[in-house]
Amino acid sequence: MNILIFGPNGSGKGTQGAIVQKKFGVPHIETGVIFRQNIKGGTELGMKAKAFIDKGELVPDEITVPMILSRLQEDDCKKGWLLDGFPRNLAQAEALWKALQAAGMKLDFVIEILLDRKIAKQRIMGRRLCANDNNHPNNIFIDAIKPAEKDGKPVCRVCGCETLTARADDQDEDAIDKRHGIYYDTKTGSLAAVNYFKERVKVIEVDGTAGVKEVSEDLLKKLS
Ligand code: AMP
Repeated sequence: MNILIFGPNGSGKGTQGAIVQKKFGVPHIETGVIFRQNIKGGTELGMKAKAFIDKGELVPDEITVPMILSRLQEDDCKKGWLLDGFPRNLAQAEALWKALQAAGMKLDFVIEILLDRKIAKQRIMGRRLCANDNNHPNNIFIDAIKPAEKDGKPVCRVCGCETLTARADDQDEDAIDKRHGIYYDTKTGSLAAVNYFKERVKVIEVDGTAGVKEVSEDLLKKLS
């Protein structure tokens, strides 16, 4: 099963992606995570990507497209994949589609999480990352996934981990606005990519306004 998941930053895309991954047992490939791992590891790719990420700009397609296409060649992708955060613009969508056609690979479906831009921004600013697992949802602005408390300090609501951090690019309003500008752009941005796929494969739309549980129930219903 080969799947793409779209949603603006702050729509809960990572959380829903983890649920979809579980359902289909395919690797969850997140471009942002790959970049952050490379930055942490001090690789050449990480150093090149960091400057763009810090400003909320896209890492250039010449770096991102080959990185993802080669990731899809790895052994664990033989049973399928869930791509999250890629494609992020129309050019990447066209490159992916061309590569899939050339490899004779099918794109089974695309998921789109719909969310108002203002709500998405507020959610990003409240997001906290658990040091044990980035997919443990914690957000100081969303009651359903507020961090737990231990000795008056916020801890991960899933595993109790005491290291909860905000991503630097999540606290920078200019960077958030830039990222959303790219996402909500229907001419060349991420929504242009979604529309590109709407002409080619089945796109499953879910309303991301509700809580995590409601959104995942709606999504799983539409996937069954
Ligand atoms: P994310 O974790 O998805 O919010 O991604 C963090 C940052 O990584 C983005 O703001 C971009 O700078 C970069 N990035 C992630 N995915 C892509 C992509 N498909 N193309 C270019 N840059 C990307």
